Amino acid sequence: MTSYDVDLFVIGAGSGGTRAARIAAGFGARVKVAEEYRVGGTCVIRGCVPKKLFVYAARFAHEFEDSAGFGWSLQGASFDWPTLVANKDKEIARLEGAYRANLGRADVEILPQRATVEGPNAVRLADGTRVSAKYILIATGGHPNLGPEIPGRELAITSNEAFHLPRLPRSIVIQGAGYIALEFACLFAGLGAKVTVVHRGAQLLRDFDDEVSEHLAAEMRASGIAIELGVTIAAIEPDAEGRRVRLSDGREIVADEVMLAIGRLPNIAGLGLETAGVALAANGAIKVDAGSRTNVPSIYAVGDVTDRLQLTPVAIREGHAFADTVFGAKPWTVDHSLVATAVFTEPEIGTVGLTEAQARAQGYRLDIYKADFRPMKATLSGRATRTFMKLVVDQQTDRVLGVHLIGEASAEMIQIVGIVLAMGGTKADFDRTIALHPSAAEELVTMR
Ligand code: FAD
Ligand code: NDP
Repeated sequence: MTSYDVDLFVIGAGSGGTRAARIAAGFGARVKVAEEYRVGGTCVIRGCVPKKLFVYAARFAHEFEDSAGFGWSLQGASFDWPTLVANKDKEIARLEGAYRANLGRADVEILPQRATVEGPNAVRLADGTRVSAKYILIATGGHPNLGPEIPGRELAITSNEAFHLPRLPRSIVIQGAGYIALEFACLFAGLGAKVTVVHRGAQLLRDFDDEVSEHLAAEMRASGIAIELGVTIAAIEPDAEGRRVRLSDGREIVADEVMLAIGRLPNIAGLGLETAGVALAANGAIKVDAGSRTNVPSIYAVGDVTDRLQLTPVAIREGHAFADTVFGAKPWTVDHSLVATAVFTEPEIGTVGLTEAQARAQGYRLDIYKADFRPMKATLSGRATRTFMKLVVDQQTDRVLGVHLIGEASAEMIQIVGIVLAMGGTKADFDRTIALHPSAAEELVTMR
């Protein structure tokens, strides 16, 4: 029998890699994990967590304004960007420590360096050490797409740098209309920056429900964010004010910063995948089967480096399923069909299941239920915002195929709605549920 240095070598200590490493070690496997940057990965270090902390910071601006209608008067409120960044960094360092401690407690050795694949059962570390492994898990995540090489592209930032800007930009142009572009557009606007979103398409958030996307665009415009559709950034030049951005239609915008948020690409460069014979999908991501196995039987891949949903809980599930299956003799696969997700814009979006357009394209005959209302808080605050909800229901079976929300607390609501859909909930199930009053969520069970 061949003997290996370890049972599992994980490349990348992010969401997927750390979960897989801990669970595999829990089954008695000898596990090492290599991390070239910081333990915790994108989500913890420069993704979900710092982003949500910034979102909280930005939302105080609305809260302060809204409080006036409820009798409060707040004089002299001021915001200090360096304090926010420093406190955020402290929290990220604490979380990184917690991740390290959890791996340590599980007896997983962390190797703080880059690793590459040398063969089906061999890994090479940056310091030249070779490690043989019965199984290799590639969990290297992704990095921001910089798009075509336009003049001055190096002057633009991505989400990576946005977390460490020395000062809050007074103005920013953001290219893209996906999760990252719109979350940062809203949080920078909330903190007082003048924001322009530049997007090549005709609509924000392409794969979301059309009415939710339109609702968001209207709310963002009403809050002072400029949205330029059907254009791209053609060039960026330095300017006394910061950056001069030339759009593809010839117009120019001057701003302190320019941010590219046009998708993320899998981290596969120089990983040695060709040497090991690991096959890639057309978009460069690692091709895997439902069990996260590549075409090389001893090499698996999870998370953003594969061609699936780029979300933390998905990477975690994939890592967990891999470890249970390969080391725990408890085989299972991840169901990617009903993943609840939120976009932390202002207002925020929560969505799960099929959009109306997707359901129609799949041939369903649908009943559509909608609610569009002024949230109770807005009555006294005077804020011109509305909440929109949509249920997409299969006429034949009464099953709810999709739920799409935009408005306060949509992220919290959609997580619970996700359970209902996972259980095969029908519109009748929603209807027989007694409303909780007064809440926004009650609208979900009172749509007729
Ligand atoms: P990662 O977490 O990226 O981990 C990969 C790790 O591998 C990294 O630490 C990297 O340094 C390391 N690595 C790469 N190559 C090597 C190598 N050769 N050797 C050693 N180490 C290596 N998802 C959500 O669900 N909710 C959100 O709110 C959310 N917000 C986000 C906000 C932003 C700004 C961004 C960028 C992403 C956000 N995401 C969010 C997506 C989420 O962060 C990712 O889907 C998730 O982190 C993917 O996990 P992963 O394990 O695949 O990779
Ligand atoms: P997205 O895929 O969400 O959006 C990319 C955007 O960039 C789209 O609007 C796309 O337009 C546009 N785009 C793509 N290529 C180009 C190009 N060459 N030129 C101009 N525009 C372009 O990616 P993000 O970067 O926003 O985020 C990456 C992923 O991270 C998300 O998909 C999500 O899975 C995850 N994430 C999750 C969050 C959450 O859960 N709250 C928050 C942040 C990130 P088009 O529609 O025309 O293709």
